[in-house]
Amino acid sequence: MIHPDISGNKFWKLFYNVENYLSQNPNNSQIIAFGGAFSNHIFAVSALGKLLNINTLGIIRGDELKNNWQENPTLFKANQNGMEFRFVNRTDYRNKEKLIENLELEFPEALIIPEGGTNKLAVEGIKFMLGDEAKEFDYLCCAVGTGGTLAGISKFAEANQKVLGFKVVKDDSLESKIFELSGRKNFELIDASEKGYGKFSDETIRFINEFYKQFNIPLEPIYTGKMMRKLFELIEADFFPKDLKILAFDTGGLQGIAGVNDKLKNQKRGLIEFISDFH
Ligand SMILES: *Cc1c(COP(=O)(O)O)cnc(C)c1O
Repeated sequence: MIHPDISGNKFWKLFYNVENYLSQNPNNSQIIAFGGAFSNHIFAVSALGKLLNINTLGIIRGDELKNNWQENPTLFKANQNGMEFRFVNRTDYRNKEKLIENLELEFPEALIIPEGGTNKLAVEGIKFMLGDEAKEFDYLCCAVGTGGTLAGISKFAEANQKVLGFKVVKDDSLESKIFELSGRKNFELIDASEKGYGKFSDETIRFINEFYKQFNIPLEPIYTGKMMRKLFELIEADFFPKDLKILAFDTGGLQGIAGVNDKLKNQKRGLIEFISDFH
C-alpha cells in the first residue's frame, strides 16, 4: 500500500539513504545494490531508480544466470525498470569488502547500498512505519532478514510496547546486530526459518492460500507468510497474555511470488493461488 513495486519496508529503508545521497550528488547519480536473483531489495531499487530517473546497477549473487536472467521474473522486471546487472560468482560475492572496494574505484560517484539495505540511515526510515495507529498495540511483530527493519521498530516503539522479530534466516548474530542498531532491549527473536532462508514448506504455501481466502490479504512464503504462520501458532499456544493487542507488519515482497511459483511448478508442488491478481 506504500508503493506497488518499492514494497513495504524496502521503501523506508531506502528513503534517507537516497535522500542524503541526492542532496550531495544532484547530477550524475547512480545506485548500486546487492542481492540474490529473487531479491525484493534489488527489485525495489530498480523501481526507485525508474521513479527518480536514476541509473541502477544490480550486483547479483551467482553467475549461473548470466546468460538466461530474462527467465527470472524478478530480474526481468527489474531490467524493465532500467536496471543493469553484474553477475558475481558465490566466492567473490562472499568477499564483499573487496567487491565494494572495486566498485567504489570504478563508480566513485555512485551510492552503494549493502545487501538487504540495512545501515543506520535505513533504520531511521523505519520510523515512518510507526504512525499514531501503531501506538495502541501491545506487541509489534515483523519478519527479520538482515534485522534492519526490526531494529527500527525497536528503536521507535513506545516504552510499553514489546517487539517480536520472526527470523526467516538461521543467523545467531542477529540479536547483537539488531541491538547495535536500535540501542534498546525491547525485542525478542523467534525462529520462523523452517528449513532455512528462501526455502518454504508445503504447509506454509497452504497457510498462505488459506489466509488469502479468509482475509483477502496476500502473503509471500519467504518473509510475511512464515511470520504470520508462526504468529498464529503462538496465539494458539497461548504465548500472548489475554486482551493484549498484536500488530503484525505486512512488509510486502509480493513480486517474489512469480519466482516461487516457478520453483514450485518445477518440483510438482501445490502453487500459490492468488498470483493472477498481482503482478
Ligand atoms: C527484506 C524483507 C524483510 C526483512 O527486512 P530486514 O530489514 O532485512 O530484516 C521482511 N519482509 C520482506 C517482504 C522483505 O522483503
